[in-house]
Amino acid sequence: MKVTRVQILARGLTNRCPNCGEHTLFQPGSLFKVNKECPHCGFGIERGNDEGFFLGSMSLNYGVTCVFFLLPVALLWYFKVLGDTPAAILAAIGALLVPVLLYRSTRSWFLMNYYLVLPHHLPANGGTGRAGEDNNL
Ligand SMILES: [Zn+2]
Repeated sequence: MKVTRVQILARGLTNRCPNCGEHTLFQPGSLFKVNKECPHCGFGIERGNDEGFFLGSMSLNYGVTCVFFLLPVALLWYFKVLGDTPAAILAAIGALLVPVLLYRSTRSWFLMNYYLVLPHHLPANGGTGRAGEDNNL
């Protein structure tokens, strides 16, 4: 296997293409626009024929925001470390800001999770890079 799970993990955590490792997941100059395919290796990043593939990244974003931001704020409020108004303001700002800040990372993490489970789907490992295929099984 050309691309190992450790490489996929490292590339996912640093927002890189899981196939070639270049910083090509997002279009240059854009914070949120995902490339349809990697300009370096041609790997299909945006999956036009796999509707809903990246819904998982939104769920991941929601989960990370709740567990690592909103839950601590709620616990600080519950144990009276934060007052009612500061906790409400912090939670409201965090609920809006944290998902935006995590958008790029959770996209990359979701792609990383997919290829950690199915590394043989990566073109560099002999797959076509398309979800749902059963090559090499
Ligand atoms: Zn690539």
